[in-house]
Amino acid sequence: MMPVPLSLNRLLEHAGRLFPEQEIVSRLPDKSLRRHRYADFHRRARQLAAALKKLGLRKGDRVATLCWNHHAHLEAYFGIPAAGGVMHTLNLRLAPDELGWIAHHAHDRFLIVDDVLLPLYQRFAPHHRFERVIVFPFSGAPVTERDGDPHEGEPAIDDYERLLARAPADFHYADHHEDDPVAMCYTSGTTGKPKGVVYSHRSTVLHSLSCALPDAVNIAANDTVLPVTPMFHANSWGIPYAAVMVGARLVFPGPHLHPEDLLDLIQAEPPTLSLGVPTIWLGLIQAHEANPGRWKLPTAMRSMVGGAAVPEALIRQFAKHGVRVTQGWGMTETSPVGSLFLEKPELRGKLSDDEWFARKAMAGVPLALVEARIVGEQGVCDWNGSDVGELQVRGPYITGAYHDVPQDPDKFTADGWLRTGDVASIDAHGYIRIADRTKDLVKSGGEWISSVDLENAIMAHPGVAEAAVIAIAHRRWGERPLACVVRKPGATVTVESLRELLAGRFASWQLPDAFEFVDEIPRTSTGKFWKLKLRERFAEWRWP
Ligand code: ADP
Repeated sequence: MMPVPLSLNRLLEHAGRLFPEQEIVSRLPDKSLRRHRYADFHRRARQLAAALKKLGLRKGDRVATLCWNHHAHLEAYFGIPAAGGVMHTLNLRLAPDELGWIAHHAHDRFLIVDDVLLPLYQRFAPHHRFERVIVFPFSGAPVTERDGDPHEGEPAIDDYERLLARAPADFHYADHHEDDPVAMCYTSGTTGKPKGVVYSHRSTVLHSLSCALPDAVNIAANDTVLPVTPMFHANSWGIPYAAVMVGARLVFPGPHLHPEDLLDLIQAEPPTLSLGVPTIWLGLIQAHEANPGRWKLPTAMRSMVGGAAVPEALIRQFAKHGVRVTQGWGMTETSPVGSLFLEKPELRGKLSDDEWFARKAMAGVPLALVEARIVGEQGVCDWNGSDVGELQVRGPYITGAYHDVPQDPDKFTADGWLRTGDVASIDAHGYIRIADRTKDLVKSGGEWISSVDLENAIMAHPGVAEAAVIAIAHRRWGERPLACVVRKPGATVTVESLRELLAGRFASWQLPDAFEFVDEIPRTSTGKFWKLKLRERFAEWRWP
């Protein structure tokens, strides 16, 4: 066979050649929609690459992006690697000093930033000096260009659109090996200091192929894909790459992620596939219920939900509207899709609806290129559904190290597996059940209680909007569970009704000893429940 390297450039060329008329829709800050065709995307991504090379970008240089989900961010996804650079997405929900720390650690040379995010950039600019700042006029306001002053450490400012217009016409892709880097992303540090994961041409192409398969995410040219998952977190689950590879139509929500805004967009540009973390879909279904008749959810829509446990109640609620929710598990470290729900043929016709819903609330089965194992105190466990231990994974799109940090045995095993820090079991059919993150498990009297299982059960209460269960130190048991519950507006939820709901499903020692009604569950920068913050809030809380 020919030693042709796997390459993102090939995907860009294929998309430009085969699907020039396919549409890319972006929602702008003023909520209007802007339409591009793949022909424009192909031309503009190459112009960006040519312009970056002209500005002196060298192979392997990092170009940061601080952008919402839109067409220009997609151009950066392909244009930066086409120039030989490495796209480094900055998470705009992080604190400015954290962003500065990350940009500095990654040695980011240039920055592409939405004009509407310049105030955020200004707040971390003192922590890291970019050589050039390329401003994308997302709002349409004019950008003032400026030459930099190296003596003052002042970066040059370019207007993204003028930069593209000035790009040299004779563009050639940078030579590369398939293992060369294309992108990097820092873990959001939910459980520690952020660490950089570097993706290669090879890992990104393999991940795209793997995700596009019918039994995986199932993406095809006749799909309309709505990535609500931010492009600044785990590359929007790598789905923009896969969508371009197959020529799917793309709809980007821009900065408008409020449930009503998303419902308007879904109504106007009905997707066949949408992606987001559970909290996004929780908000969406609640807004939908609060205003019955205002929006109609597209029945052809499949929704891939992951990044945190997906409550069974949420899957059932969407099913009532004909929307199929597919749960996936993954990490920044795993590109990120590691496993997905699959209706396995050997179980068809054998499970009741309730049993299928219970399976949909699990983390799915590993994708073809991902090996998964459970390692308990006694070593590698059987796939029997009952042995619980740490989930470990390996594969060609799973990182084997973090950027510029010494190899850590807490993160990688001596025999080459990634330690996910998730506590899980795998059953005989290959379905993974995530019990918890190691740090979130409640360790009560030498036994473990899964906070995830309790939360899911509590969120099935019709009056409950959200719930998170945390461990609180206990004199006798070590730790005991405290449930923090957010009521739906106007709903009455009593502690008795919650206890009653849980009583039949859990052993009595697993039940939360106390329930606290709160206004909201704090969110991480990627929209997940932030239990660390909850634990801090209840640090002084004492058992009665
Ligand atoms: P962070 O949450 O630190 O920002 P990641 O986005 O990489 O970083 O999160 C990966 C973690 O998210 C996993 O290790 C796991 O704990 C959690 N996770 C992802 N998908 C699921 C899922 N379907 N069920 C339960 N937990 C999940």
